[in-house]
Amino acid sequence: MNSWPSVVVPATDLHLSLPKLSLMDSKSGTINAIPNKDLYRMYVCGITPYDATHLGHAATYLTFDLINRYLRIQGSEVLYVQNITDIDDPLLERAQRDNVDWQDLATSQIDLFRDDMVNLRILPPRHYIGAVEAIDLVSEAVSALQKADTIYAIDKDLYFKNRSTAHFGELSHLNVEEMKEIFSQRGGNPTLVGKIDPLDCLVWMAKRENEPGWPSTHGVGRPGWHIECTAIALKYLSPDLHEHTSIDIQGGGSDLIFPHHEMCVSQARVLTGKEFATSYVHSAMIGLDGEKMSKSKGNLVFVSTLVNSGVDPMAIRLALLSAHYRLDRMWSQTLLDGANTLLSKLRLAFSHQECAPINEVIEQVIASISSDLDTPSALAALEEWADNTIAGERGGSSKSLETLIDALLGVAI
Ligand code: ZN
Repeated sequence: MNSWPSVVVPATDLHLSLPKLSLMDSKSGTINAIPNKDLYRMYVCGITPYDATHLGHAATYLTFDLINRYLRIQGSEVLYVQNITDIDDPLLERAQRDNVDWQDLATSQIDLFRDDMVNLRILPPRHYIGAVEAIDLVSEAVSALQKADTIYAIDKDLYFKNRSTAHFGELSHLNVEEMKEIFSQRGGNPTLVGKIDPLDCLVWMAKRENEPGWPSTHGVGRPGWHIECTAIALKYLSPDLHEHTSIDIQGGGSDLIFPHHEMCVSQARVLTGKEFATSYVHSAMIGLDGEKMSKSKGNLVFVSTLVNSGVDPMAIRLALLSAHYRLDRMWSQTLLDGANTLLSKLRLAFSHQECAPINEVIEQVIASISSDLDTPSALAALEEWADNTIAGERGGSSKSLETLIDALLGVAI
């Protein structure tokens, strides 16, 4: 699958002064410094392409874009992989509802997603892998799980025994009753007759009538969602056998912690014998008018809708950065108005070659981002500097600061 066009990260000399990046790890519940490495392996779960790209998606990919940028600017290489679940029940259900071909629906939404990512200046993943093109990979992973005696069949569908490792539940910290409830809300089937454990998850679904299927050693069918990400991550991130975890960062929205990421972590541990990721990073949810933004409520706000109505994508980026990535929050016109005001101030300030002094604001922005991506503090420092410049304060050269916010925050003025 083609990724989207690259975004240039301007060269800076910041690597000389960057502190280590600290991030909240969902598993330990603590903010940990990311160890210095030459190469980081980062996997972020992609969309199911039937409704690209609402502001919740945008906030998630923006969070990991900041991490990607920070690690690159510190002089490291980031091997970034993202999947796209281009075959799954929700995609088929939407296609049937709208009476369109499921492949046409997926293709159109993937194209839209790419455009949205370009508009928001999100750095593309090195490998952007669709579930359909990963069928053989998933089939091999299922075979490996079978060899480890962690798979059983219900009719012709294959299920993974999640309790194959004693570590199941360590990421989400939920009790069994909570897990069962959330599992059923998010596509699981805890009450299915024939299950060894209600929380066991589907890894291979035999072809249903009038649905697509692909040949494999497990019969004609299609992959389960969780094993899709596990298999893609372990293949395309080329884990180093000498490291104590397979990858550095597993990421996504907080609604993926359970069941999706818990299941992936469990499968990966069986396949590799070790912890999946060093850091599990999750971004919070975006709501609208006091309610969670969701497909079922029909209150999704799409990036493309905003851009097509004339909203500057950089204002969307700034609006999403204006609150902390781990804070569930509401999207509103007020939020967008505030971002537009800040964008205008920055543009006006940067139109002055000589500006207010920049050393302090550069230090504040770097310190804020390095501290678990504290974007509100970074933007507050920038706004204060812009206000001072507009008020006539001088003594700095704006070019270095403009390069910094382009490279580090991805905001082009
Ligand atoms: Zn995933």
